[in-house]
Amino acid sequence: MFACAPNLAGSAARETWWSQTNMCKRMIDSDTIKAIGEANDIVKIIGQSLKLERSGNNYKGLCPFHESEDRAATFYVSSQRQVFHCFDCGAGGSVFRWVMMHDDLDFEAATRKLADRAGIALWKARPTALG
Ligand SMILES: [Zn+2]
Repeated sequence: MFACAPNLAGSAARETWWSQTNMCKRMIDSDTIKAIGEANDIVKIIGQSLKLERSGNNYKGLCPFHESEDRAATFYVSSQRQVFHCFDCGAGGSVFRWVMMHDDLDFEAATRKLADRAGIALWKARPTALG
C-alpha cells in the first residue's frame, strides 16, 4: 500500500497508477488543510488513543512519546488552541502533528487519514484519461 494512495473509488491498479503518477507530487491546498483541521477536534482524535482527563480548560494524560517512570501526566491537550504539548519531552503540535507522530505517518498520509475521517475530499480534480 502506498502511503499517499488516493482516496478514490476504482480498481487497485488505477489507484496505484494514479498515486504513482500524480498524487504524491501534488500539494494539498491550504484551505483544505484548514478545513480538515477544523473538522477534526484534537481532543477527540487524541482521546481515541489516549486516556485524557479534564484539567481546567485543557485535558491531560500520559505522554505516549517518552518513557516516564513516575507516570506523571505531563501531556496536555488544549481544546481551545487545538494543540497538544508534553512538558516533559517537548512533543507537541497540531492534530496533524499528532497523527504523524502517533501513527508514524508523513504529513500527506496524516492529512489523508484526517480527511477520510471527516469525509473531506483531498483532491477535486481527476485526470480525464481515467474516465
Ligand atoms: Zn512526552
